[in-house]
Amino acid sequence: MPRAFITGITGQDGSYLAERLVADGWEVHGLVRRLEVEGEQPLLGGVVAHEGDLLETDGLVAIIDEVQPELVVNLGGLTSVALSWQQPLLSYAASGGAAAALMDAALRLQERIGSPVRFVQASSSEIFGTPRTELQDETAPIAPVSPYGAAKAFAHLSVGVYRGRGLHASSAILYNHESPRRPPSFVTRKISQAAARIARGLQQELVLGDLDARRDWGWAPDYIDAIVRMARAASPADYVVSTGVTHSVREFAQAAFDAAGLGPIGDRVRSDPGFLRPVDAAAPRGDAGAIRASLGWAPTRDFGEIVAAMVQADLDEIDRS
Ligand code: GDP
Repeated sequence: MPRAFITGITGQDGSYLAERLVADGWEVHGLVRRLEVEGEQPLLGGVVAHEGDLLETDGLVAIIDEVQPELVVNLGGLTSVALSWQQPLLSYAASGGAAAALMDAALRLQERIGSPVRFVQASSSEIFGTPRTELQDETAPIAPVSPYGAAKAFAHLSVGVYRGRGLHASSAILYNHESPRRPPSFVTRKISQAAARIARGLQQELVLGDLDARRDWGWAPDYIDAIVRMARAASPADYVVSTGVTHSVREFAQAAFDAAGLGPIGDRVRSDPGFLRPVDAAAPRGDAGAIRASLGWAPTRDFGEIVAAMVQADLDEIDRS
């Protein structure tokens, strides 16, 4: 049985990746923190948990030496742009430094055991900051505008460094990807939960930040499929993973209200300056043409389907409790 080691396994992406790899016949190992954090996904049965922290790199190296995985996927980090402004050093260490430490450990393991160790980094459209082109592909200039983006940029560049040293290392430049497992700190889940609560009479209105902010939102399990394809590919490479279509926060809110049968958002959704960001990446929109052509990847769900699935999951959750 091939072995994989995943950081961030209790997050949205980690939980989907663990399910996918277990279904594909992998032995899955994951990094978990000592303390459970609210909003994290429960660990899938059969997954081997290793206690540790992205900030304790000696521990990470020890886990990789012990598990001897054929594949390391780094999904871990401080995933919130907003939080990275409050804790920039933590963001640099967890989303930047830890990736380099993992690749270093993977390369040394590969040299020690004499068989290949593959690595996939979950990178982010945030590495492009305020993009200079309306549509970004793998050649877009790396120019982050948040501590989170800078940390991710360091990790992304390190993938190139270790690939140059002979590691099968790839960076998946993931645009926003959503699902019912997204924590409500992200705007999509905040909206889907609120639409469900309003529909069930548990809440009256929804207060957001910038309603005109635009994102290229995709379906999280599709982005996990992209990571799996990159891990399996004959040669390592960096790929943009995106839908190529953007929508505004306001459009997301309206689609969620529609899915919940609530009609026009009217004045039930409003913007409060308290939720605005100091700097926000302007309308990232990705061109996934390269991964489509090289690895046959394509998104399976469009915007309307994603919003409807999220709202339905939140309605079901309320109705169950
Ligand atoms: P991000 O792209 O990784 O930062 O994902 P988010 O879901 O946190 O934010 C997506 C966009 O929604 C950003 O442009 C935010 O400024 C905007 N936004 C507007 N209102 C809100 C809000 O209430 N919460 C969050 N998290 N984002 C909001």
